[in-house]
Amino acid sequence: MTITRFAPSPTGRLHVGNIRTALHNWLWARKQGGQFLLRLDDTDKERSKEEYVDAIRADLAWLGMDIDGEARQSARFDRYEAAFETLSAAGRIYPAYETAQELELKRKILLGRGKPPIYDRAALALSDQEIADFEAEGRTPHWRFKLDHDVPIEWNDLIRGRQHFDPALLSDPVIRRADGSWLYMLPSAVDDAEMGVTHVVRGEDHVTNTGLQLQMFDAMGVRSPAFAHEALLVGSEGKLSKRLGSLGVEAFREDGIEPMAVLSLLGRIGTSDPVEPFAEVAPLIEGFDFTRFGRAPARFDAEELATLNAKIVHQLDFDSVADRLPGGMAADGWDAIRPNLSTVVEARDWWHVVQGPVDDVVFDSETTAYLDQAAAMAADIAWTDTVWKELTTTLKAETGRKGKPLFLPLRQALTGRDHGPEMAALLPLIGKERTVARLSRQA
Ligand code: GLU
Repeated sequence: MTITRFAPSPTGRLHVGNIRTALHNWLWARKQGGQFLLRLDDTDKERSKEEYVDAIRADLAWLGMDIDGEARQSARFDRYEAAFETLSAAGRIYPAYETAQELELKRKILLGRGKPPIYDRAALALSDQEIADFEAEGRTPHWRFKLDHDVPIEWNDLIRGRQHFDPALLSDPVIRRADGSWLYMLPSAVDDAEMGVTHVVRGEDHVTNTGLQLQMFDAMGVRSPAFAHEALLVGSEGKLSKRLGSLGVEAFREDGIEPMAVLSLLGRIGTSDPVEPFAEVAPLIEGFDFTRFGRAPARFDAEELATLNAKIVHQLDFDSVADRLPGGMAADGWDAIRPNLSTVVEARDWWHVVQGPVDDVVFDSETTAYLDQAAAMAADIAWTDTVWKELTTTLKAETGRKGKPLFLPLRQALTGRDHGPEMAALLPLIGKERTVARLSRQA
């Protein structure tokens, strides 16, 4: 069975970049009839906050990404400890005593000589005496995972194709700090193995980590998951802006963006499939395919999202929005107003227009006379669903007006605005009494 996971650190709210990664993991799991897990990477006790855990759950729920299970790294320290013991016993973990400053100095020297700043494994060469001296000095070690330089790192990335790293050109990663706390690398590999994760979809900033983790899977004697590293998300201006980093569900909700607009956009940007306004998620699931992903960054454009949102709002049926509409607004009201909306909240404005009072518009005397004539006619005419058509046809015949002079004053008097939903749909909602009152300009 396919098992994917989304593994955010609860140190902040989700932003579009995380949401996109979550979505791709979710889409793949759903397409395969598999499971999508939420794994909270909360090993950092200081920065992880319960409010963010709640917000992450709520954001995923709002987006419609249901989860099949949840795990928290903070509840799994015994598992990491066990892996640490096993790997240490196998000679794959070693203590290192360098201070941050010493490591920085080594880096600078290597870079200064034009060499890649690979850790020199000095810690492996320490004598028992040197170690004893460090310990006597009060130094406590941090821990590194020892890469096997004889085994080339290779995998078939589902997006990037064949990947190859020479482990000798990589530093042995620090997996545990001197205070015993964990860095991301080993716990994640332990979790992926123990939770049976079959596919890891994440940003290409993790490609090197994957290389390192593949050796950890091997060292633990477990099968590694398949990996798909997607190109990163950038703003329309071409780089990962600060703004994108703070753009998330909260902002979407404030702007009246529908969850399906977010999914429609984030599901398709960066792929060779067109961005389409999907009101349902099924076609996104069905069409999801790693081979469609490109290597160029995916561009996120807020304007594209807004346009997509309007197109989705136009497809939403009354039942799916009823609980968000103003009281008293029924299906006929929604159907009349919907084509004119960019967001569902805007229905409120137009419902106020229907119910009145509408903004006052000042007309010249000729127009006032025309509107009085229209008022008299509206009072007389049979009030059917086609009342707008009948009213305007008769007015046209009787006044000789056509086009804008025929229609615009009516719209202005009836709605207080120059633009809006089709008057043909609006007029039956406004109803006879209000129509006559609004058209009637006589003092
Ligand atoms: N917590 C890690 C991150 O947010 C997870 C990366 C991964 O998917 O393995 O970068």
